[in-house]
Amino acid sequence: MEQSKLKKIVVVGGGTAGWMTASALSKTLKGQYDITLVESDQIGTIGVGEATIPMIELFNRMLELDEDEFMRQTQATFKLGIEFVNWGRIGDRYIHGFGPIGQDTWTVDFYHYWLKQYLDGKAPELDHFLINNVAAMGNKFMRAQRDMPNSPLGQIVHAYQFDASLYARFLRNFSEARGVKRVEGKIAQVRQREDGHISALVLEDGRKVEGELFIDCSGFRGLLIEETLKTGYEDWSHWLPCDTAIAVPCASAPALTPFTRATAHAAGWQWRIPLQHRIGNGHVFSSKFMSEDEATSILMNNLDGEALAEPRTVRFRTGKRKQAWNKNVVSIGLSCGFIEPLESTSIHLIQMGIAHLLEYFPAAGFQAADIRQYNRIMSDEYQWARDFVILHYKATERNDTPFWNYCRTMEVPELLQHKLDLFRSNGRTFREGMELFTKNNWVQVMHGQRVRPQSYNPLVDLISEQEIKGYLDEVSTVIRNCADHMPLHADFIAATCAAKKM
Ligand SMILES: Cc1cc2nc3c(=O)[nH]c(=O)nc-3n(C[C@H](O)[C@H](O)[C@H](O)COP(=O)(O)OP(=O)(O)OC[C@H]3O[C@@H](n4cnc5c(N)ncnc54)[C@H](O)[C@@H]3O)c2cc1C
Repeated sequence: MEQSKLKKIVVVGGGTAGWMTASALSKTLKGQYDITLVESDQIGTIGVGEATIPMIELFNRMLELDEDEFMRQTQATFKLGIEFVNWGRIGDRYIHGFGPIGQDTWTVDFYHYWLKQYLDGKAPELDHFLINNVAAMGNKFMRAQRDMPNSPLGQIVHAYQFDASLYARFLRNFSEARGVKRVEGKIAQVRQREDGHISALVLEDGRKVEGELFIDCSGFRGLLIEETLKTGYEDWSHWLPCDTAIAVPCASAPALTPFTRATAHAAGWQWRIPLQHRIGNGHVFSSKFMSEDEATSILMNNLDGEALAEPRTVRFRTGKRKQAWNKNVVSIGLSCGFIEPLESTSIHLIQMGIAHLLEYFPAAGFQAADIRQYNRIMSDEYQWARDFVILHYKATERNDTPFWNYCRTMEVPELLQHKLDLFRSNGRTFREGMELFTKNNWVQVMHGQRVRPQSYNPLVDLISEQEIKGYLDEVSTVIRNCADHMPLHADFIAATCAAKKM
């Protein structure tokens, strides 16, 4: 334990994690600390990571960013959810939308009223009861109308799809304007004190960067947390067997969709992320079940427009560092862990790493209890995201390839199995602790992938069938009418936040 007052913070890495960390610290610590960020142009950044979830709006709001300006600078589009194609069975299609399902009563979740009718073959698909999903299906978008909290128009929840390198550049300008010093150069040596704490980084040209708190945002390699401190890694690839991605941008398609698409293939899935100036695409697959050549050819044959670059391969190992914080090093971003991008959780986990660091900030020195608590909560954050992503692979009826047979029959973590069993018996689900994904998220993915409950919450039977039908009809009609009045996503962007043509 050390009790000196912290002064110098060094962020290692200038990708999304590094610049998000530098901007959050420079904003919240108000110039009281000396913050330096070291990045290497020669090494560069991973260059993917373009789809987000709604919590990022909070991050941008904390930085007091102007949303329209942020959209323009990063060529961003709005995201209402993710469309999943071919997951439960080939030919299946559902949207996992952000925001509430239907209109809750005080006793029973809306979903159970719908479920009763659905199990009797009397209700349309769940998509009709979320404003986000109905709007997404029509390529519509508008921001939530805060003065209409009881209308579906007040319940629209959005995230963004943006160009990752432009976001990093945007946050770099933000951070430098608030005093962050940027050092360009490749770190060749890491110096440690006798107790193992990092004391300085030495660059290839001999320059030295000293610090007291080091934030490792150096990407998969984990320059400080792993290569120097040998913290260890928990491997989760038996639950999430994809280990490679091929990424390629392509020209835009005519309709600007306000959602990310995830299309399952024979040994993985393909992302489609529409930005203002191009579409980001990638094929995530398991190299145990498919060759790189085959994966590349599937990707290149499934683009909406002309490829704008050569396809690029990224390899990864799903899992997380055994300790996110070790000695005076806090790892944030890919250096801390990685869960494949199916539910766009990585940037969110960066955000959580920063938020919890601020909560346990070692202003007066490093305390073992703070570090322990930080590691506990970050471990939970990763495991919650992991279980939700595993659900997509486990909850399938696909038996057309060895990959899907493996996923469908694999054992899953105990908590996930419990959630599946509970939902199958009576349609109930729950949110564990401060888990990121809520009941609405679990219900949509389980239903979308054909997990069917045997029954519903029996309290639903307190209301007559006639009344339930009236209730469902009213909710879906109001949602449809609201979506009809929303502008097209492309028109909304053109009117508020279109980037300059490149
Ligand atoms: C295929 C794929 C798709 C993804 N899609 C999504 C998505 O849709 N949504 C989402 O939320 N996330 C996604 N992610 C995750 C997302 O890309 C990352 O979380 C995000 O980009 C943060 O990366 P990073 O900053 O941790 O690492 P990097 O971008 O790799 O940055 C590492 C930095 O460290 C520097 N560095 C490393 N070594 C040295 C050295 N010796 N000296 C000096 N500098 C050094 C590098 O120069 C660089 O600046 C995806 C990831 C992958 C692999």
